[in-house]
Amino acid sequence: MDTCRLFIDGKWVDAGSGKTFSVLNPATEEEIGRAALGGPADVDKAVRAAMNAFPAWSRLTQSERAKMLYPLGAELRAAADDLVDLEIREHGTPIGMARGFVAGAADQVEFFVSISRALMGQVLDAFSDATVYLKRVPIGVCAVITPWNVPLLMMAAMVTPALVTGNTVVLKPASVNSLLAVKFTEVMEKLGLPPGVMNLVTGPGASVGEALAAHRGVDMIRFTGSSETGKEIMAVASRTAKKCVMELGGNNPVIVCEDADVEKAATWQAQRHFGNTSQNCSTPGRYYVHQKVHDRFVDVFVGQAERIVVGDPADENTTMGPMANKQQMERVEGLIESAREEGARIVLGGGRAAERGYFLQPTVVADVGHDMTIAREEIFGPAAAILKFSSEDEVIDLANDSEYGLVAGIWTKDVAKALRLAERLRIDSVYINMPRIQVPELPWGGNVKESGVGKDGSMCGLEEFTDLKMMVINQASQISS
Ligand code: NAP
Repeated sequence: MDTCRLFIDGKWVDAGSGKTFSVLNPATEEEIGRAALGGPADVDKAVRAAMNAFPAWSRLTQSERAKMLYPLGAELRAAADDLVDLEIREHGTPIGMARGFVAGAADQVEFFVSISRALMGQVLDAFSDATVYLKRVPIGVCAVITPWNVPLLMMAAMVTPALVTGNTVVLKPASVNSLLAVKFTEVMEKLGLPPGVMNLVTGPGASVGEALAAHRGVDMIRFTGSSETGKEIMAVASRTAKKCVMELGGNNPVIVCEDADVEKAATWQAQRHFGNTSQNCSTPGRYYVHQKVHDRFVDVFVGQAERIVVGDPADENTTMGPMANKQQMERVEGLIESAREEGARIVLGGGRAAERGYFLQPTVVADVGHDMTIAREEIFGPAAAILKFSSEDEVIDLANDSEYGLVAGIWTKDVAKALRLAERLRIDSVYINMPRIQVPELPWGGNVKESGVGKDGSMCGLEEFTDLKMMVINQASQISS
């Protein structure tokens, strides 16, 4: 069994408390290792190391940093056996998907490192006798706080753009994924980055996370997680006016119109809905299906969901593993129970799939009312809520009636209608006639309602880690007023 340490200033060290905490396997509820219980004093050491490392790291050219970080993709692939094993044991990821997550993490690294070499500044034509140029510079010490839902991929996709643009990093992973974070940092160590450029502090959000948000030496927070935690972090970070880029929650509507290819819509959506045990910010929370095609949609969706194989994530035949932790499983059970009590119909599943471990059955809930708890809250677990609608105006009002605005889907054969609906949605990303598929080239998130602040992914996401610094050079012999 592993006992893990913190990584501060290029060295593996015990937490100041000398204590550790337990990390569990969600499929067996057994302890698989112990992580160092970091606290505010450890955060302070890590932030100071990152501050000290910043001047030299930020002075390197963009291509020098890129060349140092590019091998991380290959190192992650070389460590795939260990990383896949930890994805399975620590997160409950089915083995096929775990391989995909490791490949995806390496791809994220190589994408961000590659495009970083194309970062450009700007020149402004503001004066006749002076040149104004704006250069992309790093922001400083970046605290990267990651969620548990896609652990390794999130770490790679959040740490890499921060580092490659010249920031130094203190990573605080979700506590349930501490061992993966340690392994990720061990892989990073192989790159031989200068001490203090990359630091890792494991420990609870309420102490380690909050200490990072409060620390004067931290210039930027890059956070992915729930809207509630994101808002708490922004409140603390506002005291020192830090830049915050936050990718937060979603309760994503999918609209299936009466003229949609219903078989395809239900099949494709159901096939993706339960991936990663539906623990994705982009998983649809509300399927609004036109009343004329509703019953067919439910039948096909359920037929697909029935094919899901729930079980041991190490088994090649398993397509859905456990939920990542007990608290989340109980929260989703509560939502399904609330739907039952509020008059919805459980068409499939609705209970636990095993006596041990955090396994839920793939669940489909129909006859859901827009004001039922399961339609209002982010589900973030293997349940699909299906609602009926009858007109375009009605469905737009319903879809927009949410505190979230992350992503939506629209299914219709009428392109003009699809664009009309998409324009009227107060939602950041809209996928038409396909479920959401994310590749690093696409931006993600944005500034709609409580789903986030700032962009992730693509060149837009990379630029979030930089500031546009202005230099004005006078060429005139005297200053004109
Ligand atoms: P979470 O509970 O908000 O936790 C996220 C991270 O914040 C964890 O590392 C957690 O540490 C830490 N944290 C908790 N309390 C904190 C505090 N007071 N101060 C600073 N840090 C704190 O979110 P989650 O449950 O891990 O992730 C699921 C959520 O993430 C969902 O809402 C999902 O929609 C969202 N998400 C959004 C995106 C997106 O791109 N928009 C992507 C993925 C996930 P501990 O683990 O120690 O508590």
